[in-house]
Amino acid sequence: MVKAFLFDMDGVLFDSMKHHAEAWYKVMGERYGFTCDRSEFYLYEGSTGGQTIDAFFVEQKGRHATDDEWRQIYKEKSDVFASFGEALPMAGAADVLRKVGEMGLTRVLVTGSGQASLIGRLDKAYPGVFDDAHMVTGNDCPIGKGKPHPYPYLKGLEKAGNISPEEAIVVENAPLGVRAAKTAGIFTVAVNTGPLDPQVLKDAGADIVLGSMSELAEKVVAIASSHRDTDTSHGH
Ligand code: CA
Repeated sequence: MVKAFLFDMDGVLFDSMKHHAEAWYKVMGERYGFTCDRSEFYLYEGSTGGQTIDAFFVEQKGRHATDDEWRQIYKEKSDVFASFGEALPMAGAADVLRKVGEMGLTRVLVTGSGQASLIGRLDKAYPGVFDDAHMVTGNDCPIGKGKPHPYPYLKGLEKAGNISPEEAIVVENAPLGVRAAKTAGIFTVAVNTGPLDPQVLKDAGADIVLGSMSELAEKVVAIASSHRDTDTSHGH
């Protein structure tokens, strides 16, 4: 029986990935001289800022980033991101959240982002849906345990009321996020809101791949009830 939906934030609840990719490109590429292109950051999406920066250090400098280095770079990236102004709520997301609430299911946010600006904006875009008790952010994740590590989604199950993986459904848009959710043992709906080939999300393990949050709004009740039915038979 499904008890909760766990929602990723960037690219699911907010149409913010273009701004993130551009901010990463400006700081990592233009300021710090790493070789990168904007689309590459969609593949790192869901990881914490520290992990993303460290991956570039390891690949291009042959060593890990120091704490001071990644904190400084992540601060600059966050400042550039903030300078782009508010990201819009994702079309269809409010309907998805409302329908999940109407089914009596718990809604939990699970994001790699630790940016106070965006998290604070949640309550403005989706009033009363998420409070601190129903949120896992990048600040809750020790370095090395961001997505694709299952830790954030296991934390999400705790915050949903210590439920089991079979009692939850994850909504994600990024391959690393899908892998995190599947490694945690949770049924995962991928919404392909960015430039990726949908096959990348299937390959990451998504149980269902949809084209948008509006499509999920149309199907979310059916998805929740069919998952409910299959639970008792241990069908998956
Ligand atoms: Ca995302």
